[in-house]
Amino acid sequence: MNALFQVEECGSGEKRFQYRRDLLTNLQCRIAPDRGNRKIAVPRRPDGSADEVPCVFCPERILSETPVFSDGSRIVVGESITFPNMYPFARTHVVTVITEAHDPATIAAGRIADALRGQVAALSGDGGYVSCNWNHLPSAGASMLHPHMQGMADAAPTFHASIAINRSEAFCRRSGRIYRTSLLEEEMGGPRHLFGDELPFFAHAVPLGEKEVRAYLPVRCADELEPWCGLLAEGIERVISLYRQAGHYAFNMSLFCDAARRPDRGFRAFCSLIARINPGATAMGDSAFMERMHLEPIVLTLPEDLAGYLP
Ligand SMILES: [Zn+2]
Repeated sequence: MNALFQVEECGSGEKRFQYRRDLLTNLQCRIAPDRGNRKIAVPRRPDGSADEVPCVFCPERILSETPVFSDGSRIVVGESITFPNMYPFARTHVVTVITEAHDPATIAAGRIADALRGQVAALSGDGGYVSCNWNHLPSAGASMLHPHMQGMADAAPTFHASIAINRSEAFCRRSGRIYRTSLLEEEMGGPRHLFGDELPFFAHAVPLGEKEVRAYLPVRCADELEPWCGLLAEGIERVISLYRQAGHYAFNMSLFCDAARRPDRGFRAFCSLIARINPGATAMGDSAFMERMHLEPIVLTLPEDLAGYLP
C-alpha cells in the first residue's frame, strides 16, 4: 500500500488473493494467481461431448472431491449442494451446484429456489456484504457445465455494490424516500415492466449488458432473503425463458445485498441478469459476473510480475 494504490492480502497458501484499489478513481480489482491452476485449458463444450474430462461436480465425485465447511459438512437443499469454492476470490466464497446434470435443457424454478436457499444458508450470519452470482455456460465465464451459483461475502462491497448502496443511501437522505419505492412508482405498468407485482422484474432502463433485467427486493441483506427465494426463482426462470426465446443461452446473474451488520439507510437488494451473446459458444469467456455485474475484474497476474515476461 502507498498513497496512490491500496493492496490488501486475504487467505493463505493456494487460497491467497489480493484486493486492490486505485485511490484516484476508487476502481477495484482482485488478483488471484492460483486461479490459473484450475486445469480449464481444455474448453468444455456445452453439448456435453467433453464428458471424458473428469468433472468433480458430477454426483459420483461431488461428495468426495469438493471441499467441506469447517464442521465437515456441505449444505444440501433438494438437488443442490453448497460447499466452499476451491479457488476463492472473496473472504467467504461458496459454490452451489444446482443440478446433477450437465447443462440441462430446462432448469425448473424449484431447483433455482433450492440453490438460492443453499446460498442463503451458507452466507446468512456472515455480517459482510453478500452477493449471489451465476455464470451460465462457458461463454458467460463458467468453467463447469453444471448450472452453479457462487456466493460471496466480504468486509467491503464490490465496486458496483458500493455505488448502488452509497447512492441509494444518499437518495434517501436527500428525499426521505426509499429508492426502490420511487423506482416502482415510475416503472410499474410501464413499457419496461416485464412481470411481477410483489417482486417486480423490469427491463433495466440503462442496461449494463444485453437485455438486462432487474428484480427489486423489498429486503436489504442476505439474512432477510429466505422468504423471497421462491418468488425470485420463479422470476429468474421466466427471464431465462425470455432469453431462450430471444436466442440466448448464456447469461450472468448477480444478486446484490447490503451488509447485515449495517443499519438500514435505504438500500434494497436487487437481482440483475444479462444475456451473453458471444458467438463462440464453445469457448470459455474471460469475463464473468465479477467483470460484467460487479465491475471489479478478477486478474490472474500480479502487476509486479509483468516485468518478468519482458523478452
Ligand atoms: Zn459433471
